[in-house]
Amino acid sequence: MKEHIYTIPLNEHFAKLESCPLCSLFEMMERNEVETITGASMMEPSIRIQTNKEGFCEKHLHQITQVGKKLPVALIFQSHLEEIFKDIDGKSGDHQIKKLDSLEKSCYICRRIKSNMDSIYSNFFHIYKTDSKFHDLFLKQKLFCLPHYKELLYYGSKNLSKKEFKLFTEEINNLEMRYLNELKGDIDWFCKKFDYRFAKEDWKNSKDAVERTVYTLCGNLPKNKSEA
Ligand SMILES: [Zn+2]
Ligand SMILES: [Zn+2]
Repeated sequence: MKEHIYTIPLNEHFAKLESCPLCSLFEMMERNEVETITGASMMEPSIRIQTNKEGFCEKHLHQITQVGKKLPVALIFQSHLEEIFKDIDGKSGDHQIKKLDSLEKSCYICRRIKSNMDSIYSNFFHIYKTDSKFHDLFLKQKLFCLPHYKELLYYGSKNLSKKEFKLFTEEINNLEMRYLNELKGDIDWFCKKFDYRFAKEDWKNSKDAVERTVYTLCGNLPKNKSEA
């Protein structure tokens, strides 16, 4: 069944118990998309039509150039550039603004990942409700980045009954607030360390508190860009 195709990846990424499991799942999807676009699908006409039209966001442009071989990447960019040129060459300034604006907002990879979102979350809530092992795994999570935390709440409100959603909110709140409290403590201690009175104290767990805060605030997910 379509909505169950993410059961295995969800289990795998939730079993890691490191950082945000949904970020880790998205990183895997991102990697797959980038590898496919620069590999097997590189010469696929229907896909090329789409990549020519939508292009890529900055993050995915960089990933494509890092992952792909030089020639396939150049061929993708060659036909993409040709399309942009045809779209704006000889056109009015207003038309060009509109075209370039929509290009800036679109990304083939972000759109593909985003379109899987509904299935991923409906799959997530299905196993959350029916698979006690997965439920336990969920309760053991250390953290969710805030964007994924928000999405879990949002999709929870759509996929669960009122009663289930209330319980889910309590559970996810417990783990997330415990994590945020720790992070707050680490940032507090990091700041204190710049006070001469604490200079000789141990850094405790605060050395990477700034980096962990950035990760918590941003996470890794298609941000997007491609509503168009
Ligand atoms: Zn995340
Ligand atoms: Zn993108």
